[in-house]
Amino acid sequence: MQETDDKGKKYDVIIVGSGINSLVAAALLSLKGQKVCILERNDWIGGCIKTDELTLAGFKHDVFSGFHPLFITSPAYGEIGELLHKHGLEYVNTDKPTAAVLPDGRHFILTTSREDNIAAMGGGDGAAYARSMADIEQNTDIIFGLLGSDLWSFGVLKLLVKSVWSRGIQKMSAFFGMSLDNCKNWLESSFESEELKACIAPWILHTGLSPSSPLSGLMGKLIFFTLEAAGMPIVKGGSANFVKAFRSLIEANGGVFFTKQDVTEIIVEDGKAVAVKTKAGDIYEARKAIICNVTPTQLYGELLTNTDIAGKITKEAENYRYGNGDMQIHLAIDGDVQWKDKALNDVAMIHLTSGVDSISKAINEAERGFLPERATVVVAQPTVLDPSRAPEGKSILWLQLQELPFHIKGDAANIIEISEDGLWDEKTANAYADRIIDRLCEHIPNLKKQILARAVLSPRDLEKQNKNLVKGDPYSGSCGI
Ligand SMILES: Cc1cc2nc3c(=O)[nH]c(=O)nc-3n(C[C@H](O)[C@H](O)[C@H](O)COP(=O)(O)OP(=O)(O)OC[C@H]3O[C@@H](n4cnc5c(N)ncnc54)[C@H](O)[C@@H]3O)c2cc1C
Repeated sequence: MQETDDKGKKYDVIIVGSGINSLVAAALLSLKGQKVCILERNDWIGGCIKTDELTLAGFKHDVFSGFHPLFITSPAYGEIGELLHKHGLEYVNTDKPTAAVLPDGRHFILTTSREDNIAAMGGGDGAAYARSMADIEQNTDIIFGLLGSDLWSFGVLKLLVKSVWSRGIQKMSAFFGMSLDNCKNWLESSFESEELKACIAPWILHTGLSPSSPLSGLMGKLIFFTLEAAGMPIVKGGSANFVKAFRSLIEANGGVFFTKQDVTEIIVEDGKAVAVKTKAGDIYEARKAIICNVTPTQLYGELLTNTDIAGKITKEAENYRYGNGDMQIHLAIDGDVQWKDKALNDVAMIHLTSGVDSISKAINEAERGFLPERATVVVAQPTVLDPSRAPEGKSILWLQLQELPFHIKGDAANIIEISEDGLWDEKTANAYADRIIDRLCEHIPNLKKQILARAVLSPRDLEKQNKNLVKGDPYSGSCGI
């Protein structure tokens, strides 16, 4: 990667890490005329955004993240989306963002049409779904206001006071009751169809929660509201092109990037962060601010250890908790993927699940240190939306398992042998991947014959590739309230 050559100079703002949050911050600041410098310890820019021919030449896998419904509905996209497109970003999308399939083959497919979804759900379920979406529509100001702010801030206090004034205390109590409820209660009390409940429940895992966590009901509604509105956009040619567009926009506005710069210390003078030091001893000075897109554990446990920080804050950082680990499996496939039920062939992201109880069971197994017997399998089909991700006549699959321990005590199915130290190794990761592929074959009978190559990334591999993914947690911290 071509580096910009003003290393060692002073910048207005130094940003540590180059993931999506850093890229957005850098773009917004540089557009406001700030001279921004992004420092990244890896040899690539993008953090969890990376496209790589991991399996075979010509198969472009998004190694980590790849699906942008949350980004294109974010305020950041509202502000810089058009500019990113001018700098080369191109999305491809679908009107069938997601589905779930039960072990017996029953399934529900969500489309981007509210009307069609309600009709497909039918009678009582359709009416309950319409009411749930209205819960979001009628409260967008307060929901997005709360989710987009620091919880204990003056802004949130102002928003709450204003909402109580305009809605009245009873409506606000009802709003908080609805918001704090969990997904399991919401699904059980609203819907009859097992397929529909199974379609919604696994999405809770993508918010870093479990179906019984407080707030998970609200998150389920929000995600479905978002998927209906945004579909499942992915970046044409691979997510690396997203990073390219950001880089081009930031550099056009005077920003600079340096890779292989492991920041090890923030230098503080008179209570103000003024510079950072890298492992190699380089110093980068900041005139105005240093933004660290790192975990609290790293910020307070490593970068600020030479600084006098109030004991209360370091204690809080020590108590910061991480969620379950994640595994990614990438498959290079000969031909198209043919599901038993052809209706699933062109859905962007499909969950294999038995519903809420099976998700709770798998989470519980992972939390106790066990490999789940029947995991919730996320199956994304990027080539359905973007055939350029694979050579002609071939395709790829992106599989995700979000219910895994980092330190393994055993196998809930009592089949896979675990190494004595309980650490993920290639043998364990491949044995677990075999279990997942067998599950997939229940719904895609020809799959095994079609697999040309595969790449398996265990929670430990994820942590090795990105320091923010502590214990392989894809959300860099427990998302519970
Ligand atoms: C496998 C996987 C799949 C996912 N899929 C999706 C998806 O499809 N859609 C979605 O919306 N979200 C997805 N997510 C979540 C999403 O990727 C994260 O929310 C997002 O990456 C967080 O961005 P970030 O900028 O905070 O940090 P990250 O993307 O984690 O980037 C942090 C960067 O900081 C660097 N860094 C850390 N410490 C230092 C240091 N001391 N010095 C220099 N550099 C440092 C790291 O090397 C890394 O490059 C996924 C996550 C994972 C792991």
